[in-house]
Amino acid sequence: MTELPIYLDHHSTTPCDPRVVDRMLPFFTEDFGNPAAVTHIHGRRAATALETARASIAGFFRVHPNEIAFTGGATESNNIAIEGLPLTAGQHVIVSAVEHKSVLRPFERLAERGIDVTILAPDSDGVISPDALQAAIRKETALVSVMTANGEIGTIEPIAELALVCREHDIFFHTDATQAAGKIPLDFSEIAASSFAISGHKFYGPKGVGALFLRRGTRVKPLTVGGGQEKNIRSGTVNVPGAVGMAAALEICAVEMVDEGVRLTALRDQLAQRVTREIPDTAINGPQRNRLPGNLNVSFGRVESESLMMAMRRFSLSSGSACSSGLREASAVLEAIGLSQARSLSSIRFGLGRSNMAQQIDLLVEDLKRAVPRLREISAA
Ligand code: PMP
Repeated sequence: MTELPIYLDHHSTTPCDPRVVDRMLPFFTEDFGNPAAVTHIHGRRAATALETARASIAGFFRVHPNEIAFTGGATESNNIAIEGLPLTAGQHVIVSAVEHKSVLRPFERLAERGIDVTILAPDSDGVISPDALQAAIRKETALVSVMTANGEIGTIEPIAELALVCREHDIFFHTDATQAAGKIPLDFSEIAASSFAISGHKFYGPKGVGALFLRRGTRVKPLTVGGGQEKNIRSGTVNVPGAVGMAAALEICAVEMVDEGVRLTALRDQLAQRVTREIPDTAINGPQRNRLPGNLNVSFGRVESESLMMAMRRFSLSSGSACSSGLREASAVLEAIGLSQARSLSSIRFGLGRSNMAQQIDLLVEDLKRAVPRLREISAA
């Protein structure tokens, strides 16, 4: 019997894999040393573990270990990469309209510093086209940021092409790889990105730890100063169990990611098909192809997603958009792909992951088929 409620919000976070926890545990108790305290064996053991984790993560993305800095998560990594660059007033930067707030907010801060910001619109699938990027580039353009994949509508961006456009113009290209890392193969020896951000808890690793890749030769001004750890990119004692856990989580992804992607794609497609066939007035948001395996975003016409989520008690669901000060806000991503506010406010994001099985999808469709018509009746009354 499946445990209830069933978790369907894997873009928001994932459970830490028990195999990852096992690898982390010794670093809380026995090998607890400070990796900077290399005068003794306790510190040196921690330092060795940290460097092993760094090499493993670098290997996963096919970059050099020296190019990986540990951080407190993708929010911090994005902030350092964007705000830390030596940009000056009068320069121009480009950011896609579908980015996470931890990218958009630092760009707002760049604007406050007198830097000219262009927000690049996606097409109706959420794709940022290399041609659109090319057209937005000026001679003052110094930085471009486009995420690797979108966690709301699953769009996988053509970052290899976008990075090439930037390289041709000698522009720094940052990509927020938080939703893509561990889900789809990423080879940064082939992708000409200047930097990327990841977060451990999005791929069955621990929360509060992330990494920032900065390609060799990049200099950033740190946001926090202190002990100068992580080559002065991020001062503060490194979260050793977290780093070990993040590396362990990616090692599991390296083995299982491709098969798991195939499995989740089939499960997601089955859900998409059944929802659109068996429930009238539903529509899929986001692309048909080049989509994150476990992602589905559906609008249920004439239903408020908030009410639907409350009615679906057997499932942990999310709309994928932020809720601030009690007021419902339409998702900026859904707005950017041209959805009306009404359609946006009737959308639910299903985030499938490792724990989800076909039988749960049957249960989900069953509950949706019960809840959606009922809510429509109430709102029509
Ligand atoms: N970028 C993206 C695309 C995300 O989905 C998230 C987390 N929702 C972040 C960055 C921030 O990650 P964290 O909260 O772990 O810092």
